[in-house]
Amino acid sequence: MRRLVVANWKMYLTPDASRVLAERIVAGGRPPGVDAALAPSFGALERVGGILLSTGIALAAQDVSPEKEGAFTGEVSAQSLKELGISLCIVGHSERRQRHAEREALLSRKIERLVEAEVAPLYCVGETRSERDAGRTASVLTAQLGALEGLKAPPPGFALAYEPVWAIGTGLAATPAMAEEAHSVLRDALRARWGDAAGAIPILYGGSMTKANAGELFARPGVDGGLVGGASLDAEAFLSILKAAA
Ligand code: PEP
Repeated sequence: MRRLVVANWKMYLTPDASRVLAERIVAGGRPPGVDAALAPSFGALERVGGILLSTGIALAAQDVSPEKEGAFTGEVSAQSLKELGISLCIVGHSERRQRHAEREALLSRKIERLVEAEVAPLYCVGETRSERDAGRTASVLTAQLGALEGLKAPPPGFALAYEPVWAIGTGLAATPAMAEEAHSVLRDALRARWGDAAGAIPILYGGSMTKANAGELFARPGVDGGLVGGASLDAEAFLSILKAAA
């Protein structure tokens, strides 16, 4: 399976700063055999999209409305994302689960809207520190996959990200062994849901991935790529992570 590495710039960069970073990443080049995507904030999508045209690096969004269209002030529809050239959209990031109380019922509607608009969902799951300490990691991850309930088969381009909440933005990445174990739980659950078709779904690791630890994480069976926050804000660090994935 080709590795996929996605940069999540969260709300750190203005459109101008996003353009500069995207240009640096494009200039550095994407190694063959690795798929890459950049997810700027909504306000920078069009500018970054212009830079990524014909580069082979995909444009991704960080969120989408669960609604199709209408009186939903502040929301952005899946159809608008499609029109802006977005091929992938993050859904269920822990920052949205925690700060916006997003749960599986809502997340499954976001996923449905993306599938209708032919934008691939990148669905994030992960346990908190206390859930891990209580030995509940596998059951939490499996329960979070409940948002996929309405889908009879994996949508084209669908990807999953294992992002332990305690590892995001903390500098405390999961050990490669922890990542391998969680990815294997997820792969088994996807196979139970979708059979052999689940074998082709990339499962990315996210949570304090850096150029120093990316190689050992990618070396583990079942770690098919990365969702990178902080380290993706530095072109040289992100390009090193892409190289480690190659
Ligand atoms: C993320 O926000 O998806 C993420 C993985 O962040 P960080 O790499 O900064 O932990």
